[in-house]
Amino acid sequence: METLRTLEALEREGLIASAADLAEAAESMAIALTPEMLALIDRGDPADPIARQFVPSVAETRVAPGELADPIGDEARSPVKGIVHRYPDRVLLKPIHVCPVYCRFCFRREKVGPGGDTLSAAELERALAYITADPKIWEVILTGGDPLMLAPRRLAELIGRLDAIPHVGVIRLHSRVPIVDPGRVGEALVAALRPRRAALWLAVHCNHPRELGTATRATLARLADAGIPLLGQTVLLAGVNDDVDTLDALMRGLVTARVKPYYLHHPDLVRGTGHFRVTIERGQQLMKALRGRLSGLAQPTYVLDVPGGHGKVPVGPSFLSGYRGDDPDALLVEDAFGKQHRYPG
Ligand code: SF4
Repeated sequence: METLRTLEALEREGLIASAADLAEAAESMAIALTPEMLALIDRGDPADPIARQFVPSVAETRVAPGELADPIGDEARSPVKGIVHRYPDRVLLKPIHVCPVYCRFCFRREKVGPGGDTLSAAELERALAYITADPKIWEVILTGGDPLMLAPRRLAELIGRLDAIPHVGVIRLHSRVPIVDPGRVGEALVAALRPRRAALWLAVHCNHPRELGTATRATLARLADAGIPLLGQTVLLAGVNDDVDTLDALMRGLVTARVKPYYLHHPDLVRGTGHFRVTIERGQQLMKALRGRLSGLAQPTYVLDVPGGHGKVPVGPSFLSGYRGDDPDALLVEDAFGKQHRYPG
């Protein structure tokens, strides 16, 4: 079966009632739903958390005040096409804007798609020259789009070029491919990712425990067996994973697949994605609940991307507060089960 790419195909599969009703929503972003994700959808559940991530909704046509076309300020921090330079020691390199699926909540939803801006050979050379010229750049993060959508030979070439830059110590790739299209991770792709001089890390994007099916777990095992350290990143999404049981199952699932949960992203202020947004207070409540349930190994850091391109910061929850007793220097510390204790100042 092929990836579904049109409203008509979604209608034929019974995932939407009427293609005509969603034409405006679909205009704002491409559609792609892989057979692996399609197979996970419970057609009898109108609120299915897998379908919710990939099937367009009329809610996407509603833009709330404060929502932005470029919510994390990529443009403001881009000195050269394809590069985002927010911190002195690291850059994003975006060689491709194509993805295996199109996630309706995506913070780059106005950039990604089949017509997206893939770097030409000359543009890629300019981006590599920028990295080569700045010895402070220690980490290069390949993102996009999805860098594992590059042909394995091109990906191997690109990683090889980065590996040859002496001051690059880490090459990190962010991808949804191993989760949503595990069959794409063949031997040539694994070989392209094998360890080299620079440390190579792969962060996989996974939002729901159901996404960790048999084929996906087998693919993650092959990557881990090849010596590629794996990180997990998750977007906190209303109606997908904004409850403690789902997050608990997801984080345990990732750790048992040898993926270290890395970030739980607070949803960005993306235009037309208000239906996915939760409050920071709710995110903090969920993180507190996870602290009482999961070992440190399974805890992600809950982060917010500061709008305007100012980078990520952890947004709690805090387990410390002021002690309102006789010692003005003392603190109150809350344990993982919500009990408070005095800690001397
Ligand atoms: S795979 Fe990543 S970049 Fe592509 S649409 Fe999904 S979240 Fe956005």
